[in-house]
Amino acid sequence: MPIDSNILVVDDDPINVQIIANALFKTHRINVATTGLNALRITQEQMPDLILLDIGLPDISGYEVCKMLKRNSVTRHVPVVFITARDTDLDELHGLELGAIDYIRKPFSPALIRARVNNQLLLKHKTDQLEQLAMLDSLTAIPNRRNFEQELSKVWSVAQRKSREIAVALLDIDYFKQYNDHYGHAAGDRCLQLVAKTISASLHRPMDFVARYGGEEFVMILPDSTLDETIMVAEKVRENIENLNIRHEHPDIQGQLTVSIGVASTIPTQHKMDRHILEEADKNLYRAKKMGRNQLFQA
Ligand code: GH3
Ligand code: MG
Ligand code: MG
Repeated sequence: MPIDSNILVVDDDPINVQIIANALFKTHRINVATTGLNALRITQEQMPDLILLDIGLPDISGYEVCKMLKRNSVTRHVPVVFITARDTDLDELHGLELGAIDYIRKPFSPALIRARVNNQLLLKHKTDQLEQLAMLDSLTAIPNRRNFEQELSKVWSVAQRKSREIAVALLDIDYFKQYNDHYGHAAGDRCLQLVAKTISASLHRPMDFVARYGGEEFVMILPDSTLDETIMVAEKVRENIENLNIRHEHPDIQGQLTVSIGVASTIPTQHKMDRHILEEADKNLYRAKKMGRNQLFQA
């Protein structure tokens, strides 16, 4: 059972609140809202793990609260359980159709509340874990491409609002096919892990981001960086990987493992993300390869 979860109890009757809190406080943290609008505000601010929602509230109804929570992309995933004196099947159906995951009719027994709440929290915990896993690359444990796409469009709209520069750097390992051929796929995998770790360790600002873009390609997002700053960071990444001194003794190479990097930057003018920045970075990566690899290129 996921202990120490945050539960928001929304009820204007202090006796009900007391009964619910008594049933749950030993294993969970309880927060209380006595109006619908307060419930919406607290949810936005604190993102509880579960909401126990009464329907008859003094301002807007619990149905209305649920509807608004489900309409908002930030609060949509917070599970809502109605807990109410409205006891017809139609009431329950309406609540479930609005997106609640459960409906408990008053009067209720504390044991029943505890059991149902814990079931829902367990489910939420598992869903959260799966969602997190779905955003990570399984080999390197850094964000995956899907994660990158989300991050870029998020960072893009912030940069557009603030008229700030945004830079991406695409990194590709040089002669990696030969590395695999010479040392085997398992060694190639270890190499990818090491490269991922080295890039992550080379990025120091909290907003800097790296993901595995595909096979042996990685992508960095450096928000709020000038082109010069980005080049410095990318160059440091290239150097740190070279300094790992991973031998690459394939007969055609006879050296060590290196990477090439293509950099592009822009100040977004439109809200919707323009993929041109990625095409530009890709073109520059291609140029870095053409010019002899183990280097970066920016237009
Ligand atoms: P270049 O210098 O032009 O980038 O040449 P390259 O050999 O690195 O590029 P190419 O695209 O020809 O080959 C990429 C190789 O990366 C081929 C593929 O087997 C290897 N690769 C892709 N994903 C993985 C992976 O997850 N693990 C391992 N071990 N190898 C991978
Ligand atoms: Mg490649
Ligand atoms: Mg390559």
